[in-house]
Amino acid sequence: MTTETISIDPAIQKFLSGGAKKIYLGGKWVDSKTGKTFKALNPATGETLAEVCEAGKEDVEAAVSAAREQFENGPWSRMNPAERAKILWRIGDLLEKHADELAALETLNNGKPVKEARSADLPMTIENFRYWSGWCTKITGETIPTTTPYAPKAKFFSYTTKEAVGVVAAIIPWNMPLQMASWKLAPALACGCVVILKPAEQTPLSALRLAELMEEAGLPPGTVQVLPGFGPTAGAALAAHPGVDKISFTGSTETGREILRASAGSNLKRVSLELGGKSPHIIFADADLEMASRHAYMGVFYNQGQICCAGSRIYVERPAYEELTSKLADRAKKVRLGPGLDPKTQMGPLVSSEHRARVESYVEAGKKEGAKLLAGGDRPAGKGFFLNPAVFTDVKDDMKIAREEIFGPVAAVMPFDSVDEVLKRANRSDYGLAAGVWTKDIKKAFNAVNALRAGLVWVNTFNLADPTLPWGGYKQSGWGRETGAEAIKLYTETKTVWVDLN
Ligand code: ADP
Repeated sequence: MTTETISIDPAIQKFLSGGAKKIYLGGKWVDSKTGKTFKALNPATGETLAEVCEAGKEDVEAAVSAAREQFENGPWSRMNPAERAKILWRIGDLLEKHADELAALETLNNGKPVKEARSADLPMTIENFRYWSGWCTKITGETIPTTTPYAPKAKFFSYTTKEAVGVVAAIIPWNMPLQMASWKLAPALACGCVVILKPAEQTPLSALRLAELMEEAGLPPGTVQVLPGFGPTAGAALAAHPGVDKISFTGSTETGREILRASAGSNLKRVSLELGGKSPHIIFADADLEMASRHAYMGVFYNQGQICCAGSRIYVERPAYEELTSKLADRAKKVRLGPGLDPKTQMGPLVSSEHRARVESYVEAGKKEGAKLLAGGDRPAGKGFFLNPAVFTDVKDDMKIAREEIFGPVAAVMPFDSVDEVLKRANRSDYGLAAGVWTKDIKKAFNAVNALRAGLVWVNTFNLADPTLPWGGYKQSGWGRETGAEAIKLYTETKTVWVDLN
């Protein structure tokens, strides 16, 4: 593990100094009503980066009132869409201007290597705002001729409009804090919604910095509120609040279920869910095994394995099994762990000590159930929440590590003998977020694509996302599709209009 002392950007030092970070509500920076604060940690050291005001139930009340006032009487939902577009574009520009600083802040609070934050999280966040800036002027309904079989001669003019769904509560996870914020904020704002963003309790800092930049970009006060706080308090209060019209959630399947229950028990708010996964990554023996092993490695270990689409079930056709597993294990053994701000770091710490303990319990389960641990699974010496990436082979489909989402650096590798067998095994999962297929045989590839029950399928690649393309899962991986034009459905209601012309 690398241990050099890393210097912190003065802009970040300034952001982190000056007392507890405040809640952004109604266009003002305020303390929480209870005066409570919590600590945002640096997972590479376990040290406190900043105290953060903790939003509770009372703050949720105030945020919902501010958001409703803005939605019902404020300028955002009434604004000329071209004006809205300019503000979203300016947010993208400001994110770009501060990209180095934001990448470093994301790394400090989340742990990810800064190279990844700067080359993936930031460009994707920036592009999301720009992509949705373009949509502001293009969210339209349709003119639809009627048939009126009960009055065949009658004439009507009928059409649909798309209207903002209202006040959106966006509840996001800690694995890609800025990107996840942009996945929800940018389309919701483009559609004319007002947003209450609740970042994860582990990673509130970049969302607060983003709010400062949104303010600077000219977003009217009260259009976005940012409530740092905990799931069971602030998150649950948002999910149950009758003044919230829609919840857009990314996180675990278990929490997604709780949010649905809360919504059903209050105002049947609209809910979209981007949940867990246990994605199969299928490698046929005719594939380019060097490339396949690299992608299998990144597929499961990118972001320390803390990614919903992680290819954590790696199925390898038997003739390639030995070669592939040893390549994967070699790579895992050589990875350079360290603080994310060190440019030489290839893998950072897990987000929290609790999360590392949870991941370690899966490593123990794998060993106990008889899988063979080829690499890692143990802690390196030193501080921080690090874990050496684990590669298990000889895993059976019914083992815990092959069934449950671990959300950490644990790969389960399994051999297979036929196409039918592997596709059946790949689909035997409660989840259906993503899947990967490696082969040079085009028919085999497309037949597999058609058979896989997953919202995303990668062929001879893995882990790609784009602001223009839908993202979401089958089965218990979620409801709805985020990113791409499909997200308009998540943030609008359709109104059907009839005009009598008789
Ligand atoms: P994890 O267990 O990995 O933190 P979660 O799905 O619980 O994943 O967390 C994702 C987001 O959901 C976080 O912002 C968290 O605060 C929030 N959250 C957790 N529990 C609830 C809940 N009961 N209601 C609403 N939001 C919640």
